[in-house]
Amino acid sequence: MNFKDYIRVIPDFPQPGIRFKDITTLLKDGAAYRAAIDEMKRLVAHHEIELIAGPEARGFVVGAPLSYALGVGFVPIRKSGKLPGETIEADYALEYGKDKLSMHKDAIRPGQKVLIADDLLATGGTIETSINLVRQLGGQIVGAAFLIELTYLEGRRKLDGIDVVSLIQYS
Ligand code: 5GP
Repeated sequence: MNFKDYIRVIPDFPQPGIRFKDITTLLKDGAAYRAAIDEMKRLVAHHEIELIAGPEARGFVVGAPLSYALGVGFVPIRKSGKLPGETIEADYALEYGKDKLSMHKDAIRPGQKVLIADDLLATGGTIETSINLVRQLGGQIVGAAFLIELTYLEGRRKLDGIDVVSLIQYS
């Protein structure tokens, strides 16, 4: 299956000059969505994974079905103020200004092997912050998996030493 055919590219969203990769066109096709998750499962099969962590919101639609397919747990990484229990937080840089991502303090047991999942790797800032949170909780990052990678932004360089896999690349 050519997964790229299912991604819609929307020019000038959310700002002029950005060519947004819209994954909703893939998600609404049951066969394509399932095949994409199955293929991501294959890409990470060589890792021993105990838990998947994914940042809101599109990290959930990739990470949660992948954790179901692997039979491991899923923990959400959320914007500040959304999780009900005790949390840890980390700043991350947005194009304009800053935001915070958070995780429950008891989301990960020290030493647990964690795969990070998200829909898209761009500059790597979101995933770098997610990795910092997981490591603060004592989790061991075994890899990072994405539906899409914008290779020209070289987000991988921020993830030095981490096995990064992606299903679709834009160069
Ligand atoms: P980064 O932090 O790597 O620069 O940006 C990645 C984050 O921004 C991901 O969480 C992703 O959901 C979102 N993102 C940035 N650009 C796009 C895009 O073109 N399409 C989609 N679906 N998400 C994007």
